[in-house]
Amino acid sequence: MNSLRKEIKTLQDIDAASFTFENLRWKYGVFRPMSSGAGRNKKHWGWCGVVTALGEVEEKVWYQLTEQLIKNAGEQQLLAHLIEWESECGYTKSSSDEVRKEAIHLHVSRIFDDPEWIHYLPFNKRYRPEIWEAAHIVYVRNECCQKVSAVTQEQIDRSSYSIIYCPHCGRWSRFTILGRRVKPEGPNPCLDCDCYDPDMGCTMPGIDKSYACPLEAPNGGQRRASDA
Ligand SMILES: [Zn+2]
Repeated sequence: MNSLRKEIKTLQDIDAASFTFENLRWKYGVFRPMSSGAGRNKKHWGWCGVVTALGEVEEKVWYQLTEQLIKNAGEQQLLAHLIEWESECGYTKSSSDEVRKEAIHLHVSRIFDDPEWIHYLPFNKRYRPEIWEAAHIVYVRNECCQKVSAVTQEQIDRSSYSIIYCPHCGRWSRFTILGRRVKPEGPNPCLDCDCYDPDMGCTMPGIDKSYACPLEAPNGGQRRASDA
């Protein structure tokens, strides 16, 4: 192996101040063909590693270190939420081990803190309502479904070719901005939303409310007066 390459083999190789999510972030994977012995007894195997800011880490050690990091941060529950989310939303065909690994990747990259993440609003509305409350929410109508969606201002700022992810169908399509969530909410937040009709009141279909309705509280907290 290249002697300039720094390999981290155990937690002892990392000083406490450097043991951070940022430093352990998975930059890319590496595979090194290895061999020992000679002739007929020569054995071959592969070394699977991860390149991080601190150096290379064998893949299985990377998962041990990052699980420890999550534990140190007291974020096991947050990891459990990511696993639940991934199981339901994206990786239904994967084994539980694969889902856990994927969730650890997302956790180390702090995806739940990134307003550009397409699941930022629904994930945080469900598991971290205080983050959802503070989000810069914009209501849009995607061309694909013609339904109202809540997205973040950051998603709009970063949208390329004027397209944005549609939470209803999962496609990326052009969109029209309908309005922004007003904070603190005015006396009738329904007026900020394109679904309010002066005669009919709220006309948003029930299925859209969990995503798009400014009155729909996270985690089934505060209920709409009309539902009572
Ligand atoms: Zn759509």
